[in-house]
Amino acid sequence: MGNLENDKQKKIREIVSIVKLASLLFSGMVFLRYFFNGSTMVDVTVKTNYSFVSFFVLILILLSIYFLWSFSTVEKINIKYIKIIQSIENIIFVLFFMIVVLYSGKNTSDYKFIFLFIIITSTIQKGMMQGMIVACIASTFILSLDLIMGAPNVQVNLIFENDLILSGVFMLTAWPLGFYVRIENEHIRKLEGLANEDGLTGLYNHRFFYDALEGIMQTCEKENNLVSMILIDIDYFKIYNDVNGHQMGDEVLRSVGSILKSSFRKDDVVARYGGEEFAIVLPNTSEEDTIKLAERLRIKIETTYFNGEENQPNGNLTVSIGTSIYPSKAKNATELFKSADDALYRAKFFDKNRVESYTSILEELKIDTKDEHIDIITSIKTLISVINAKDKYTYGHVERVVIYSRLLADKLELNEKNKKELIYGAYMHDIGKINIPKEILNKNMPLTSAEWEIMKQHSVNGVEIIKSVESLKEIAPLILHHHERYDGKGYPDNLKGNNIPYLVRMLTVVDCFDAMTSSRPYNKRKTYKEAIEELKICSGKQFDKEIADSFIEVIIDNQNRIGNVEEYKI
Ligand code: GH3
Ligand code: MG
Ligand code: MG
Repeated sequence: MGNLENDKQKKIREIVSIVKLASLLFSGMVFLRYFFNGSTMVDVTVKTNYSFVSFFVLILILLSIYFLWSFSTVEKINIKYIKIIQSIENIIFVLFFMIVVLYSGKNTSDYKFIFLFIIITSTIQKGMMQGMIVACIASTFILSLDLIMGAPNVQVNLIFENDLILSGVFMLTAWPLGFYVRIENEHIRKLEGLANEDGLTGLYNHRFFYDALEGIMQTCEKENNLVSMILIDIDYFKIYNDVNGHQMGDEVLRSVGSILKSSFRKDDVVARYGGEEFAIVLPNTSEEDTIKLAERLRIKIETTYFNGEENQPNGNLTVSIGTSIYPSKAKNATELFKSADDALYRAKFFDKNRVESYTSILEELKIDTKDEHIDIITSIKTLISVINAKDKYTYGHVERVVIYSRLLADKLELNEKNKKELIYGAYMHDIGKINIPKEILNKNMPLTSAEWEIMKQHSVNGVEIIKSVESLKEIAPLILHHHERYDGKGYPDNLKGNNIPYLVRMLTVVDCFDAMTSSRPYNKRKTYKEAIEELKICSGKQFDKEIADSFIEVIIDNQNRIGNVEEYKI
């Protein structure tokens, strides 16, 4: 819609320039006419040939300058300056027309109406106020001329009367035209508002959000400023709708919208991004402040009473919030959104009704890594996003395995070093999948034995990828052996029992649990309850029993904390 306004202004500039050009031509003709009026025939042959040509050339030059000026230069000038330039241009035109009138007979001039050109164009361009000012100046000028020039006699009185009528015409041109321009502008603004607004909440809509984000990012990139993002998702909103009906659901969305509206500054862009998802872009806001604002907002929604909220799984209507910030955690608009979304995902995953700010495991890893290996870490990050893109069924798998691993590490009271190793290993365990064809990764029926052999290569390939990075040496066993089984029937080395490193046994349990509970190409995903049963059945065979038991406790604890419903699936 901003483009629409620019387009309109551009077209108006074009038409106004043509009218002004025509008025200049017209003035040129007036000048010529009066220039020759006093000349005798002798003059015409001797003096005027020269004068005529030079006068004509001068007018042509002036016209060409104006033509070039209005059609080329103005386009490139900042919109702020265009307004000032237009005012100066209008003043020059008024002065010029005054000269035309003075030159063509002062109070008896037949060309006083020439002011209409500038009254009409300035009203169209700058609105009623400026149009009326120009009309007043023109009227004052022609009436003053009458008063100054003529001693009262019948003819002068007649001219004065005509000029009074002309002044009325000036005013009656500027006033309704200006009024029309005002109505039109208001109409455009209203339409712009409607096109950018979400009908239900009155916040900005999805489309405007992206436009605004791009704009803010561009400005902040230039001026080296921070841009923060907050993503908000209502917890268990589907259940709220199912229990209370869509109409009450809409009412909640409206209330959350007005809480959001009242919680942020004018410069922040607050949008309803999806059905029950909201996004806020905050220019020039530090990460610390963003988290504080998000936390305040979370508490506000938690403590606000919404009709029927007592039927929610945690007895309350709450939101989960993810935040991120440019430039330290994201390099562009897409990354900013993606990282805030990752943080939101984590907030949902832990126990909802929670604020999480984005942290990248690989960024943490970079801190522990020697400078010469930083590039490799960055490449690993790229590899992981390529795998995520390639393997649509395991999207989010890595992130979830990392979260589970962290919880299990705390449960089993690992020391800091081991905990870090487990988490880094969890992050990179599938990195060898980069070499597996997409068709095998996403095949929606059981793999053939040849395909299985290719699939199994991913643990060996993974180690190949990271082996040159000294600081990742400790993680290699996690990548190589995460498909070993406690009973020795796994791959690639058929390791058995305690020969499989402890951290690897932990990762295997976590990895398999997530595989069971998330979408897979050809397996129906299991509920948490079914997956816990499966872990129990496979304890001592596929999994280390003690570790599996501890992990089951982790899962049950986590589900209880969330107040989760039985059928809830990730
Ligand atoms: P989670 O805690 O994981 O966010 O669970 P959830 O149920 O909130 O999440 P999910 O994204 O699965 O469900 C979103 C629900 O939001 C689905 C739909 O019932 C509801 N919803 C989306 N748009 C609207 C809307 O415009 N009005 C109403 N009343 N409900 C909506
Ligand atoms: Mg949602
Ligand atoms: Mg939700």
